[in-house]
Amino acid sequence: LSRLFLYIYFMSIDLKRTRYLPKNLRKMNTTFNYDKTSFWGETFSKLFDRYGDPFWWPGSDAWEVAVGAILTQNTSWTNVEKALKNLRESGIVSANKLLDIDSTKLARLIRPSGYFNQKAKKLVSLAEWWLKNVDFENSVSFSDEELREELLNIWGIGPETADSISLYAFGKANFVVDAYTMRIRSRVSGSEKKPAYADVQAEVHAQLPHNPLLFNYLHGLIVVLAKEHCLARNPKCLDCALSDSCKYFHVGIQ
Ligand code: SF4
Repeated sequence: LSRLFLYIYFMSIDLKRTRYLPKNLRKMNTTFNYDKTSFWGETFSKLFDRYGDPFWWPGSDAWEVAVGAILTQNTSWTNVEKALKNLRESGIVSANKLLDIDSTKLARLIRPSGYFNQKAKKLVSLAEWWLKNVDFENSVSFSDEELREELLNIWGIGPETADSISLYAFGKANFVVDAYTMRIRSRVSGSEKKPAYADVQAEVHAQLPHNPLLFNYLHGLIVVLAKEHCLARNPKCLDCALSDSCKYFHVGIQ
């Protein structure tokens, strides 16, 4: 009977599943002031006009967002969802609970996300850090830069994961650069050079206000565009929100 109850409970959570928005972003003004003539200003303006709030990142709380940011390394979100579902159904829904189970069981639960032994080790490192630094309201006492450094010092966390956790779990203004960002930037600007992660992040930070809600939306909007139009092969350029200014579309530069 208790198993049936748990199943019904977690199914109802799944049905209500939405994105998690950190507390400091919930009441922020969504009217943004920025220079729409810069590359990222124009990109944000066109995507926000087309899609509005992209409703990203999926997750029920800060901890689940952070776990998802590790599980999504080198795999698709569909596989992450399966691993998260296994964790939820086993009641592993907090840093405390995660440290209560042995690593073999943890690896088995997150198997659908791939690289499961390594990812289990990373989750344990994250959980140990979490218990020392995150309070019961899911807040941390670090500045944007300090939190990024803290996360980068955790074993197995690189810039993209650190920025994802920092922005989407804690509402810090550190923009997330991912493969979609690189692809869209390169196609729209017509630049064949692959810039470094830090350079693209610095470009976004320089061209847009240091606003965590705007960065939250922009990354989500890039994900939406990459999934709906700017596919790796055969992008659907007709009716893309960026086609007016996209070099790839106009002159075929990739
Ligand atoms: S116009 Fe085509 S290549 Fe350019 S951003 Fe849109 S989908 Fe991508």
